[in-house]
Amino acid sequence: MHQIIIIGAGTSGLMSALRLAEAGYDDILILEAEMRIGGRILTIPKNGKWLELGAQWIHGKGKNPLWRFVQEHKIPIHAEVNRDGEGRFVRNDGREMPSSILEETMVKLDFIHDDCNKFAKDPKKFAQLSIGEVFKKEFDTWLHEEKIGHEPHEHTEWRRQFFQWYIKWEECDAGCDSLDEQSAVSWGQYVDYDDDTSFAEGYVSLLNKIKELLDKTNVEIKLDHAVTSIQYDLEGGAQLTCENGEIFQASHVISTASLGYLKQHHNELFQPPLPSRMVNAIESIGFGTIDRIKLDFVAPFWDASNPGYMILWDRNINDEPLNRSTWVQHVVGFDAVIDHPNMLMAWVSGEAARIMESLPDQTIATQLCDVLRLVTKKSLPDLKSVDVTRWYTNPFQLGVYSYRSPKTDQKGLGPKDLGEPIIVLGQPRILFAGEATDPDHYGTVHGAFTAGEREAKRLIDFFKAQ
Ligand SMILES: Cc1cc2nc3c(=O)[nH]c(=O)nc-3n(C[C@H](O)[C@H](O)[C@H](O)COP(=O)(O)OP(=O)(O)OC[C@H]3O[C@@H](n4cnc5c(N)ncnc54)[C@H](O)[C@@H]3O)c2cc1C
Repeated sequence: MHQIIIIGAGTSGLMSALRLAEAGYDDILILEAEMRIGGRILTIPKNGKWLELGAQWIHGKGKNPLWRFVQEHKIPIHAEVNRDGEGRFVRNDGREMPSSILEETMVKLDFIHDDCNKFAKDPKKFAQLSIGEVFKKEFDTWLHEEKIGHEPHEHTEWRRQFFQWYIKWEECDAGCDSLDEQSAVSWGQYVDYDDDTSFAEGYVSLLNKIKELLDKTNVEIKLDHAVTSIQYDLEGGAQLTCENGEIFQASHVISTASLGYLKQHHNELFQPPLPSRMVNAIESIGFGTIDRIKLDFVAPFWDASNPGYMILWDRNINDEPLNRSTWVQHVVGFDAVIDHPNMLMAWVSGEAARIMESLPDQTIATQLCDVLRLVTKKSLPDLKSVDVTRWYTNPFQLGVYSYRSPKTDQKGLGPKDLGEPIIVLGQPRILFAGEATDPDHYGTVHGAFTAGEREAKRLIDFFKAQ
């Protein structure tokens, strides 16, 4: 019998364990389904450098608790920040968007984005509103009031094509299938720490530091131990059964399994079933898909002073059927990759990403190179390798991160409901952490970090009160 079992050795699970151990409670076992720690942090060695296949940026400095941890432990930070959504904006006919129209339209859309903070101030009033509607309405108003009839038709068309790109770019960032499903209130509630940065030696250097600290305690991590059932109403504690048949017992359990995993498995995982409000939250809060494909060429073929290609289409690609041939039209663009001068990184989200995941790497690479040839009108250098992420196919993730829809807001459900502990005989028996349980920083590593600390504190407070 352990005092505490933590399910999952991602950021949240590791931070829960660390904070509990620091407080003197280190009879902790972490059960991790995969053969590695890190969850949605996945850094691989490549060309003598590091390459991120999961989280990439530390989203902001200032009061960001993750940033404070990084500073406290002197984890090296990169001198540069990976560019994102930059480079040449090119259309499928090979024409480049005129820079003056591009800049003005970008400024307008960024203003609409930033102005969305106002929706957090009155959650009830704006509960039905999606970010997709807000963007469409504000952008259309701008075009009709200031552009249509006041400038050549072709300029307005560029703006519309750019708008289509911008929405896809935001969808990739938010991790939702469509901005029409992204609640305006939750968008406004997200707390933005300014000034993104990244790790000089990959996100794995964060994991290595936490692991180094945990190695000085009694915390044990068992890899390749997928928990398949948790019976939590026993008198002495909870009993956890793993896929390999091993059984463990604990007084308290902290689950950090992804919302994607819970959506698929909460029914068979928890005995007795979870309370209905939590089940409603699990089913209602969204969990999207984004993927990145890294194409490593033998040499760069782009302008080193302005690397990257963002892809515009001269038609509404959302009107066309989405399938194994057309998914590639939904690729937002190809970013340059820090430390990898011969590499481009394609981004894709939603159903297009899920279709992509079902294809062989070579097919994906060929389709992406066809798009690059189409927009650059160049013959490309040979491809050395391709690295494809498949976060939706991963059985312990089933997507990337959480988002709230207007329907979720209307039901009054949110991250707090996912993070509500289950109390048995007056004790917090099952606690829930993970990025999706953090109301202000969902969808991020620092959200997972904070949620892990939060649940550790809940247990520490409980122990102290005994
Ligand atoms: C492609 C991608 C890009 C991202 N980019 C960024 C970024 O730039 N910046 C940022 O801040 N965030 C980013 N994120 C989000 C960030 O990575 C996550 O929010 C964060 O890592 C989640 O941590 P977690 O501890 O909540 O969950 P996880 O990291 O998913 O950890 C949960 C762990 O539980 C394990 N598990 C699941 N089920 C079981 C089970 N039944 N038994 C045992 N173990 C189980 C899983 O294997 C996993 O290791 C990105 C995510 C992805 C996928």
